[in-house]
Amino acid sequence: MINDAKGIKYAASPLLQGNFVAHGFLTRVGGVSLAPYASLNFDGRDTDPAGNVEKNKALFHEAFGVPEGRLVTVSQVHGKKVLVIDGQLPDKPVEADAIVTAEPDVAIGMMTADCQPILLHDPVNNAIGAVHAGWKGAALGIVVETVLKMSETYGTDPACLIASLGPCIGPCCYKVGWNVLDEYMKNHRDADCFRENDGLRMDISLANNLQLLGVGVKKENISIDSVCTSCNPELFFSYRKDNGRTGRQLSFIMLKGGSPR
Ligand SMILES: [Zn+2]
Repeated sequence: MINDAKGIKYAASPLLQGNFVAHGFLTRVGGVSLAPYASLNFDGRDTDPAGNVEKNKALFHEAFGVPEGRLVTVSQVHGKKVLVIDGQLPDKPVEADAIVTAEPDVAIGMMTADCQPILLHDPVNNAIGAVHAGWKGAALGIVVETVLKMSETYGTDPACLIASLGPCIGPCCYKVGWNVLDEYMKNHRDADCFRENDGLRMDISLANNLQLLGVGVKKENISIDSVCTSCNPELFFSYRKDNGRTGRQLSFIMLKGGSPR
């Protein structure tokens, strides 16, 4: 289901509703950037003028009530490093593909265009996580690394963790080379997220879902948004569909100030 916050269209998880967290899987709708970045692009690395990205960020802060200067993103490198934020916010993006924190009023965000954004909430210890997992991240087990980091840092019990898998490219559109399967099998015992159908296809959502179940997250605590980013170009940036020249949509989660500590 697509929601609207002051013109910004976003998807949300039924499991993350409530008074203590704000979150959203933003679409590309509601920003100021022009094609091929139209319109809610958060990535300033390409040729979208920086002023547009700044305006899009300002619209995000306003629409979701995130305090100015309290959105933390990382320089995503398809690796498995998890950034822990406690108190001091980084003054420039650190290389990592996941962020965890227990700080209130800090929105942690991931930027994607086909890869899967995953949002985590531990309602027992009041901690959150945001993960970027495409095929490389799934092969490296980034979502498991993030759950383990939350356990180590906040005492998170995976059995109490809520996990929301956001929109990503679906197996309908995601043909991959056999090298992807080889890389995946270096770290995982089963290939259930791959199937042969007019070439090899990967289901990134299923990969991340199975990894979460494997580390002890309960089935009923996992939500999956199975909208395909490549099938819905009016809603989502898609690296594959747009031949690499496209923007990045933001997904974020934030513990609201005043949440129990
Ligand atoms: Zn598709």
